[in-house]
Amino acid sequence: MALRFHNQLTKRVDDFVSQTPNLVKMYTCGPTVYDYAHIGNWSGYIYWDILVRVLQAHGYKVDRVMNITDVGHLVSDADEGEDKLEKGARRENKTAWDVAKFYTDNFLEGMKKLGLIEPTHISKATDYIDEQLELVRELKQKGYTYQISDGIYYDTSKFSSYADFAGLNLTGEQAGARVEFNPEKRNVSDFALWKFTPAGEKRDMEWETPADLMEDGQSVMGFPGWHLECSAMAISILGNTLDIHTGGIDHIPVHHTNEIAQSEAVTGERFSNYWLHNNHLKSNGTKISKSLGNGYTLEDLIDKGYEPADLRMFVLQSHYRSEGNFSFDNLEAAKNRLQHWRNVAALRHQTHDTLMDDDDKSTDDKTVSLLAASQALIETLGDDLDTPGALTLIDDAFDRLDRVDDIHHYALVDFLETIDEVTGLNLLGTTPDVSEDVKMLIIERERARDAKDWPRADKLRHEIEGYKINIRDTEHGTVWEYA
Ligand code: AMP
Ligand code: ZN
Repeated sequence: MALRFHNQLTKRVDDFVSQTPNLVKMYTCGPTVYDYAHIGNWSGYIYWDILVRVLQAHGYKVDRVMNITDVGHLVSDADEGEDKLEKGARRENKTAWDVAKFYTDNFLEGMKKLGLIEPTHISKATDYIDEQLELVRELKQKGYTYQISDGIYYDTSKFSSYADFAGLNLTGEQAGARVEFNPEKRNVSDFALWKFTPAGEKRDMEWETPADLMEDGQSVMGFPGWHLECSAMAISILGNTLDIHTGGIDHIPVHHTNEIAQSEAVTGERFSNYWLHNNHLKSNGTKISKSLGNGYTLEDLIDKGYEPADLRMFVLQSHYRSEGNFSFDNLEAAKNRLQHWRNVAALRHQTHDTLMDDDDKSTDDKTVSLLAASQALIETLGDDLDTPGALTLIDDAFDRLDRVDDIHHYALVDFLETIDEVTGLNLLGTTPDVSEDVKMLIIERERARDAKDWPRADKLRHEIEGYKINIRDTEHGTVWEYA
């Protein structure tokens, strides 16, 4: 089965080939832990969770690093302004370490709630300071760095392909617009590898800059620039070349461009063979942010009565490369779709067939199409993570299950297992069978109906509804659903 992805490196959809058969080395730029993740942030992590699931369904083991940015991400991409963590610390009257711990824990809990597969390695920038300093040292020895009053910078003019990844026009206005110009920098696109703690200040997070990295050999306190952590962790944990690197589209022109420049200057090898980027989730065309009042967190949605799985379904309804549009109407539609799917999943408890029945039914076209749907689902997602196409395929397959007495139990369970594996929607885990009491009531109600005792049938229906189960009478018998 073919796997293909849109690759920012080549700007086209490429067939996927890993360096080592059946193994994918993957890196995902993780959260900056100075505040709660909002639904836009989560949308990206949901897409990359699907990527992992699809790779696994295609037979790959995924060795994956996701970093936690707990230091060095400044308020402006121009390496100016405050560190987001130190700013968060002042806002909350805590230390930057406490802020980082609180939001890291919250993020990891959110991952669990959303059912995101845990990366093999979750690594914090502050745990990789030595590795980052070693990269600065190697870049310095190779002549890529220079020192100015506030730090050690990367000279992007020394990396000849710097503009290629994002298609930057460095001589034109684009460069000027990208970053505010620091007059001490040699080129507008140059970025800080290591910043010095400003004189007279004491940061919560700071480390000694080794004297050999300093022009005057005098050690000062400092901290890493944001981009350096990803290169340091990716190379030290996964090796010089990744198979896949992922992040949001905002990372293309600055963060990922800089990761490539640093890493490739040090190793002389390609940093990643495939680069995938999720487009942004917006809300009625506007940016999602706390200050605009639409930066909903997972907890906000839960408080409003939604499940994390509703958000997952909502996100999968759009392709990762197209801009998402959040509204509560759209979330509600996703919730309804999920509820319908759960009721289809519950049909497996109502197909009371034996293995022998299954054999009889296996000649049925519907069975064959259900078994084929599993394969088609994996293939659809393998085509550049076509999640909207995958959901339509599932809807179509479910629509064909119109007669409960006709459903092949094995084929349905097999399909549901595949859906759960590749979408993470956990249909099997969330759709328990009804209790023996309810089963008895359903049978009694059928008897009452057979006896045309309508008042009793009605009374039994109400009793069943008390268990949050609805009864639907179809041409081919009675079906129960979750209320
Ligand atoms: P941050 O925590 O700010 O470092 O961002 C974490 C990730 O979320 C990055 O990969 C961003 O590109 C991504 N991101 C930020 N805003 C959005 C959004 N509205 N929609 C989708 N992804 C986003
Ligand atoms: Zn990164």
